[in-house]
Amino acid sequence: MSTTSKEIHLASRPNGMPTKENFKLAEVEVPALADGQVLIRNHWMSVDPYMRGRMMDVQSYVPPFQIGEVLSGGAIGEVVESKNPDVKVGTWLQHMNGWREFAVSDGLFDQVIDPNIAPPQAFLGVLGMPGLTAYAGLLRVGELKDGDEVFVTAASGAVGSVVAQIAKAKGHHVAGSAGSDDKCKWLEDVAGIDKAINYKNYGSQGELEAAMAEACPRGIDVYFENVGGDHLVSALNLMNTFGRMPLCGMISRYNDTSPQPGPWNLIMAVGKSLKLQGFIVTNHLDIAEDFMRDVPAWIKDGKIKWEETVFEGVENAPDAFMGLFSGANFGKMLVKLS
Ligand code: NDP
Repeated sequence: MSTTSKEIHLASRPNGMPTKENFKLAEVEVPALADGQVLIRNHWMSVDPYMRGRMMDVQSYVPPFQIGEVLSGGAIGEVVESKNPDVKVGTWLQHMNGWREFAVSDGLFDQVIDPNIAPPQAFLGVLGMPGLTAYAGLLRVGELKDGDEVFVTAASGAVGSVVAQIAKAKGHHVAGSAGSDDKCKWLEDVAGIDKAINYKNYGSQGELEAAMAEACPRGIDVYFENVGGDHLVSALNLMNTFGRMPLCGMISRYNDTSPQPGPWNLIMAVGKSLKLQGFIVTNHLDIAEDFMRDVPAWIKDGKIKWEETVFEGVENAPDAFMGLFSGANFGKMLVKLS
């Protein structure tokens, strides 16, 4: 019996903020399995800010999406048919064939997950790529050490919330920013950070910097960068000597239609002997074993908690994706495929 699958194609490349017209819902017939392949029924898929970069026709660390073709990205699914003797029907896999209901895979790069450790969708968030990004970015790139004062941007998001809680679990003073009072309340009351500020309350870079300074009275040693713009300018002014700035992302710039001036005060990095280091999580996969030892233990001890925002149905994946740029997500943005 043939299976049909709904999936989302890239209809056109966005100019600025993505719109619904950039996406197209298609219904396709799933091809019969060849030897070695498995059929995965996706239960969850992830939308992530980095996908915005893949919608542009530019060379980067990942190839661009192609117009007229199905998008891809992290997903969690269950094997419903197998012609691969090593992968049994019923196995839960994390893989990169998201944005579709069913996926055919040769299983080579898929990772078996154990849904008994945490709900399956956690492997797209706290126990998946965003969590590993936080772990590698803070501990390895940020070289977190005793006594460091930490500031995290997009602090209630998938990456930021894990950064903030790892730093807290290790006993640091942690402050962060997020785009709503509810998110800030969660950061202080549930995630347990020392001070959260709603950056939308400040009308200028100077006001934001004053609020960040108040949140970090002893300055900042590790600034975890997720957003760019005024936050970065402010952080450069507030960094302590020999501070480190893991540059994870700059989401405030992803929809720019013209080049924006860089931080005008980058010279601060010279006088303060700062280390600014960009990083991509896939260059740090060797730390995954440590990550899978530490983070589940912190979750078990109640030191790491998380939120999810869930859209239902693959047809709503574009809205979930676009919502990342307006802060519509509280914690990990996910799409549940039924
Ligand atoms: P989040 O879950 O943090 O979602 C994105 C959040 O960014 C939104 O919820 C919103 O929260 C905030 N945001 C959106 N627009 C702006 C803006 N103009 N100014 C300030 N904040 C904004 O996403 P992720 O955790 O998945 O990603 C966070 C960052 O990490 C991104 O920059 C992403 O590109 C980067 N990243 C990098 C990786 C790497 O390997 N280097 C891997 C994974 C992610 P709010 O309501 O607080 O504004």
